[in-house]
Amino acid sequence: MRRLVAGTGWKMNNGIAASRRYAEELKARIAPLDTSAIDIYVLPPFTSLAAAAQAFAGSPVAVGGQNMHWEDSGSWTGEISAPMLLEAGCRYVELAHSERLQHFGETYAQVRRKVDKAMSAGLVPVVCLGESAPEKAEGRADAVLAGQLLASIDGQPDERIPEIILAYEPRWAIGAAEAASPSYVEERHRALRAVLREHRGESVAERTRIIYGGSVTPENGGAILALGDVDGLFVGRAAWEPGGFARIVELVAGAAKRKAAARKP
Ligand code: PEP
Repeated sequence: MRRLVAGTGWKMNNGIAASRRYAEELKARIAPLDTSAIDIYVLPPFTSLAAAAQAFAGSPVAVGGQNMHWEDSGSWTGEISAPMLLEAGCRYVELAHSERLQHFGETYAQVRRKVDKAMSAGLVPVVCLGESAPEKAEGRADAVLAGQLLASIDGQPDERIPEIILAYEPRWAIGAAEAASPSYVEERHRALRAVLREHRGESVAERTRIIYGGSVTPENGGAILALGDVDGLFVGRAAWEPGGFARIVELVAGAAKRKAAARKP
């Protein structure tokens, strides 16, 4: 049984004071919920990480970085390393967000090195995978996703792959007016799991979490979460207010209960 995930990336929003306010409100809003069966993370900007980690300490909410370098230290101006994220209180690190690829020229060859570092450092990598609008239009989505996935996990032993969270985030659906349709998400998640099955075996495919992100809202999230191969939601704008993320957390916690009940004989 895969633990469902509720995550949000704040992008370049929320300084230290705003992060503390967000944390206090989110904690209060989710306190009445049973979140014991799900994993919850927020990804603040680097300068807010330590304050956010402190503010969420003792709550079900973990904190993560939005990017990371593959070396521990050195002459890499402007970069942040895995030991720095850990020291700031991080448990997660997001890798390969489409904005990193698009605006900062990151590649999946770099992502592979970052995954390697995150895994050896003890951070949970959340690895984004997603096709662009032209790739979708050309019918190449599954081939592109397979390439990104295999490049990201290259060199990782089978038994460690399920520690990675895969985030299917179609680039054309990020920051858009609408999410991908549930049937489109279902096809892509099924195809990604099939790639894992073919290359890493049934057990890896069954245990690895694949979450969806791209214009998720509390209104459309339920239908996406109900899909068998969707193991959680990764939310941007709709979770930038704590009330919005609390509603997402509630949806994911409810879906976890339903999925667990459906598996009982
Ligand atoms: C994102 O940037 O990863 C994202 C999912 O954003 P939004 O939900 O705003 O589309």
